[in-house]
Amino acid sequence: MNVLVQLQDVDKIYSTGKQTMHAVNGATLQIHRGEVLGLVGESGSGKSTLGKMLIGLEAPTRGSVSYLGKPLWDKNKFKRPRPGEIQTVFQDPQSSLDPRMKVKSIILEPLRALDAKQRKEKGNEKQLIELIRRVGLKEEQLERYPHEFSGGQRQRIAIARALITDPSFIVFDEPTSALDVSVQAQVLNLLRELKAERQLTYLFISHNMSVIRYMCDRIAVMYKGKIVEMGAAEQVFKHPRHPYTTLLLSSLPSVHHEKEEKPINFCAI
Ligand code: ADP
Ligand code: MG
Repeated sequence: MNVLVQLQDVDKIYSTGKQTMHAVNGATLQIHRGEVLGLVGESGSGKSTLGKMLIGLEAPTRGSVSYLGKPLWDKNKFKRPRPGEIQTVFQDPQSSLDPRMKVKSIILEPLRALDAKQRKEKGNEKQLIELIRRVGLKEEQLERYPHEFSGGQRQRIAIARALITDPSFIVFDEPTSALDVSVQAQVLNLLRELKAERQLTYLFISHNMSVIRYMCDRIAVMYKGKIVEMGAAEQVFKHPRHPYTTLLLSSLPSVHHEKEEKPINFCAI
């Protein structure tokens, strides 16, 4: 299979004063083109730090991070494959959208990294209107400000902003964790549809096993900076090998006791 992203023996150590924090410890993983890899683990296990190394926000302390076979980091400098090729959507749409900017400018903002020709192609009115409609918003909402939107709508704006550059790979860091369950399901469905329509590849970070089960083809389980288990979603859910995975799954009674009702059935919403 076609490997898009490769992490090999990656460490990230934060040093603050006398304290050091081994946030990511010897992580090795691959993300194949067209798949959704879920990264799950409790708060503080290193998920966001791992994601940040893929989008240029944190440099690895050791090890290699590559995209289509080429290193993403040269010492502490991030080398973009193609501007806009890798995009991201964070958890909190409140703080990730500039409150002083209109939605239109927010969505068009990532195009600044592109050359003039691409900017013209992607930033044209027709494309923008198509995109805003595709994520479930209306054309007239382009002239509004973020505070005029609900949490779910704000996350739709963040998704449009990520898609404007035609990325191949998107890192989602807890994209629906701040949303109500019913809104969460709608946004997750949108993400699944977009992935199929645009042949996208996702790294999908979440601490929520239900969400991971709904979204992911393969799963990597992180515990205290280490990837302790990785495999096909089906396999990990049915036959977890690491005790920590079993512990995570115990919050989902339906996985172990098939007769019990599933806690969240996203398909049914
Ligand atoms: P997760 O996303 O799984 O909750 P993080 O990757 O955010 O975990 O954090 C992993 C560990 O690294 C935590 O102990 C966190 O406190 C620490 N950490 C994260 N960012 C920094 C930073 N900029 N400086 C120091 N420590 C950090
Ligand atoms: Mg995090």
